[in-house]
Amino acid sequence: MTCPKCGREHTATARQVYERTVALPLGLNPMLLAPPPAPVDPATVAVPASRPPTGRKSIVLFVVGGLMAGSGLLELLVGSVAGDQTYQGGWEAGPLLRLVLGLCLVASGYWNHRSRRWPVAGPVEQHVHLHNRAVYTRRTQVWEHAQVCLDCPGVFFAAGALRPDFPASPLIELGQFPVMVATMADRAYAGAR
Ligand SMILES: [Zn+2]
Repeated sequence: MTCPKCGREHTATARQVYERTVALPLGLNPMLLAPPPAPVDPATVAVPASRPPTGRKSIVLFVVGGLMAGSGLLELLVGSVAGDQTYQGGWEAGPLLRLVLGLCLVASGYWNHRSRRWPVAGPVEQHVHLHNRAVYTRRTQVWEHAQVCLDCPGVFFAAGALRPDFPASPLIELGQFPVMVATMADRAYAGAR
């Protein structure tokens, strides 16, 4: 391949430079020619073993249930200590009912908390991931076609490298390489799904 700037043929592919399978000139950092980063699949992201923090629903159930049960219990105790006749018979149903209901609410709050799970990747995340995957594939194809002039140094794409109708690119600075790969991938595969 002929360098569009110096006209010499002392070139290698980006992969050869990155993997150091060719002798590199002094000062050429192969990491600048790293391949595009692969997207992380949300399905493979480890779910933490710990439980998520207590949710708002559980907290409300705890507070309301606790208050209800507490007031019911207090009224029952005060009533039995006082020995007042008004707390006998049917009057006890009120505080007792509150105590039982309150305990039920606390229990359901507890089970609501127990059944909480960290959110797993849904269809939207999977869709975004598939899109990112497609972008990654295109960028990798562009990366595979990149030529490096080891004398200048810089990167270029030969005529028709990505698509038959694509003209040769000028020499690009190594620092601009990742942006160039992304732009070329968008242009070369525009409209592709
Ligand atoms: Zn050159």
